[in-house]
Amino acid sequence: MTDPIRPGENPNELLVFDHGFVRLDAAMADDLSVVNSARVSFAVRKDEMDERDEGLIRFLMRERHGTPTEHNSFRFHIRCPMFVAREWFRHRVGSFNEESARYHKMSDDFYVPDVGAVRSQVGKPGAYTFEPVDEAVALETQDVLRTQYKDAYATYQRLVDKGIAKEVARSVLPVGIYTQFYWTINARALMNFLSLRNAEAAQYEIRVYAQAVEEFFKQKMPVTYECFIDFGRTAP
Ligand SMILES: Cc1cc2nc3c(=O)[nH]c(=O)nc-3n(C[C@H](O)[C@H](O)[C@H](O)COP(=O)(O)OP(=O)(O)OC[C@H]3O[C@@H](n4cnc5c(N)ncnc54)[C@H](O)[C@@H]3O)c2cc1C
Repeated sequence: MTDPIRPGENPNELLVFDHGFVRLDAAMADDLSVVNSARVSFAVRKDEMDERDEGLIRFLMRERHGTPTEHNSFRFHIRCPMFVAREWFRHRVGSFNEESARYHKMSDDFYVPDVGAVRSQVGKPGAYTFEPVDEAVALETQDVLRTQYKDAYATYQRLVDKGIAKEVARSVLPVGIYTQFYWTINARALMNFLSLRNAEAAQYEIRVYAQAVEEFFKQKMPVTYECFIDFGRTAP
């Protein structure tokens, strides 16, 4: 199976699946800001982190004093299948702006899972497991998806060519189509997102995106990140 996350052209970009990416567009994020926003209680400000500051972050994260982690901000540019975006947009704490299928003609990039990612669903709600399928079944599934995508996009194109409004023509497009959006989020809400979406219960596809997002969080706020891991991947 191809690695679902690969390095992009620049260090702030990770390529995801067949046509997606997570790009850190900008960040105002570091561990020191957590320390300083907590130490303002005592009118103290530091210019550099030291061991005591790391201990303070550890204390804040352990005791779930989360507000000092809200003074950090990450702006991501994401490209993902529409069904992933739909799950993503449920995270209300954060700001989104998305590509418009009313104003602009969608491209014909659609998500086709790798053979290893085609899976079956076993069990009952709340306790599903997702099991691998035979390679032949996976290949057939890929073919079915490609055929459906091609037909759907051809219909979309035909309607647009006839002069039908894009907002109407888009009704024929499947949720596997790629969309893109900007997402700005503070570190506390980001940890909440990661705790839920880079988790076993999350759908595989959004989980992979969350793993890419998590890489940038780890880079920018290594001490806070380490505490997030040590204290059970729970947002403070
Ligand atoms: C595995 C999984 C399965 C899911 N299945 C479904 C499903 O079948 N159907 C469905 O509708 N959704 C489903 N969801 C979405 C889920 O219900 C949440 O909407 C989503 O995960 C966002 O989580 P959140 O509210 O913690 O995040 P955010 O909306 O970003 O909120 C962050 C935090 O802010 C606080 N907060 C935000 N808004 C409020 C509020 N109005 N009142 C009080 N506190 C608030 C809460 O502490 C919250 O944890 C699923 C999510 C997961 C991870």
